[in-house]
Amino acid sequence: MKKQLMSKQMTKTELIKLDPDFDLSLIKPAAAALRSGELVAFPTETVYGLGANAFCETAVKRVFEVKGRPQDNPLIVHLSKFEHLSEISINIPQIAYDLLEVFAPGPLTLILPKSDLVPEIVSAGLSTVAIRFPDNSVARALIELSGVPIVAPSANLSGRPSPTQAWHVYQDLAGKIPYILDGGTCAYGLESTIIDLSVADPVILRPGFITAYDIKKSTGIKITEFQAEQSGIEPDFQPKAPGQKYRHYSPRATVIILRENPDLAARLNNLLNGIEKFIQNKISANNLKKDNPQEISVGLFLAEELSKGLDLDYFKNSLHRSTCYNVRFKLESYNNQRGAADAAHDLFNRFREFDQLQADLIICSAEQMSGAGIAYMNRLKKAASYEI
Ligand code: AMP
Ligand code: MG
Repeated sequence: MKKQLMSKQMTKTELIKLDPDFDLSLIKPAAAALRSGELVAFPTETVYGLGANAFCETAVKRVFEVKGRPQDNPLIVHLSKFEHLSEISINIPQIAYDLLEVFAPGPLTLILPKSDLVPEIVSAGLSTVAIRFPDNSVARALIELSGVPIVAPSANLSGRPSPTQAWHVYQDLAGKIPYILDGGTCAYGLESTIIDLSVADPVILRPGFITAYDIKKSTGIKITEFQAEQSGIEPDFQPKAPGQKYRHYSPRATVIILRENPDLAARLNNLLNGIEKFIQNKISANNLKKDNPQEISVGLFLAEELSKGLDLDYFKNSLHRSTCYNVRFKLESYNNQRGAADAAHDLFNRFREFDQLQADLIICSAEQMSGAGIAYMNRLKKAASYEI
């Protein structure tokens, strides 16, 4: 099935829907376009990527332009075969092979010394380069057919939530690129784990589904776990001064984190108070009269144990009494019985769904900093303004 559109910029974007047993002929035109320097968005097991031929400087430059990505943010080179690694990287340490043997293809990115064949623009001038072998049949076939290494940052406009479904890409990039390959929802829904192997003590630079604990357990290799930024979030109600914090993965709505608390009733109470304070701040910031009825839309992304105990009618009535606002809620929950993998998988999609509903405020519950919870909290903190 193919859909076409013409945009203001007059780039025709073709959306190509692919079943799990898709015919290779469906992606051949996109692979040829990639090879010749055009951009193609495609699914990976982490998020959708905006692909370009890594050896073609003009194509890579276009990736930065289309995304509005700062030039000092280096890209990851995606490969389909191990033998191509030596074209991209030099002096590859044994530890890289040991990790790749177990975790490739998969959601693991390694930082290695860069080969001169890789244009400077790819690595933002660094002497190192990031590489990954994605584990998604469309991604692998596309890279293989194009016959070149592919840079592929997330296929969203810079700053927006990463795309985990083809319609997310379409929202951000329709009319700007010739092809979007639709391979359904991404298996993980969150970007890869990045490990820096160019330093004496390998360290996780960006947390993902593969943790230092997983690596130690399956290979015996010790990697320093991701060190959460201490400066991230203020533990109060004051939104950050503009520019003080680098915002990322951000929906249009203000995002607030609902802190952990073993006392569910107290946590729900914090939630109610947090929404009330948000409204009060809005009223005073805009000099609104309290008796002038207004509406506000709130998206909630909560662990099931919380959403089960939540009485939205009580919340609505209580908030109406205290603020005169009519609050529209959209509640989405996730199961965290076995850790935060479901929360991590759905987070970006929920951000985009709440944006579609024109939410003013999004509140997400915090998860424990272990397993997928480390990555979930990392993305959530980058998107959020403050915690309650
Ligand atoms: P993405 O935006 O998902 O494509 O991820 C790219 C990220 O990989 C960058 O934002 C960097 O954090 C990281 N990265 C890529 N290349 C390097 C490198 N040579 N050294 C350190 N980090 C890198
Ligand atoms: Mg990104």
